[in-house]
Amino acid sequence: MAEVERVLASLVPWLEVVGGMSWPDVEESADTLVGNALLKARAVAKATGVAALADDTGLFIDSLDGDPGVRSARFAGEDATDEDNVDKVLRSLNGVHDRSARFVTVIACVTPDLRELVVEGVLQGAIGRERLGSGGFGYDPIFFVDGRTLAQRSPEEKAQMSHRGRALRAFAAQIGNKPLIF
Ligand code: IMP
Repeated sequence: MAEVERVLASLVPWLEVVGGMSWPDVEESADTLVGNALLKARAVAKATGVAALADDTGLFIDSLDGDPGVRSARFAGEDATDEDNVDKVLRSLNGVHDRSARFVTVIACVTPDLRELVVEGVLQGAIGRERLGSGGFGYDPIFFVDGRTLAQRSPEEKAQMSHRGRALRAFAAQIGNKPLIF
């Protein structure tokens, strides 16, 4: 979340991030990214009494009918590591020609009186045949954009182009001139 705070601070300077709050864990039980982001943001807004921002991200691979999608974190099982999930994607695409894929991040913002804002950021790319690069996390080492994986880019370069960066900029554009929604 440090990255989100840093990007938002530069995009929406009047936004104040409130620290020291706590809320119960929220199970991501919806079957869409929008559903999960809203579940989390609604629960946190209710528990804290301040506006809450939550995100949910998925990797959608065309040849796998959109899998792993909303189940990206647990594609290889409930306790799967990033390693396990990447291995499963590479195995599933073994011998498959069409490797097109996209990352989608949904950001939901919910106010204590339950007004809601939902935005999305998409990054189109393709799945490689092996891991490349040592940066990033999750599926970054196998996700290619313009000939390089996300794991081969600096954090700044990734934030400039990424699904999460795009969703954050869409959020900032929506609320940037409307401080009163909070
Ligand atoms: P979450 O919604 O942030 O929990 O992410 C769901 C799954 O997608 C996890 O397995 C993450 O590792 C993966 N993921 C999320 N964002 C990224 C990213 O920017 N690059 C690579 N993998 C990601």
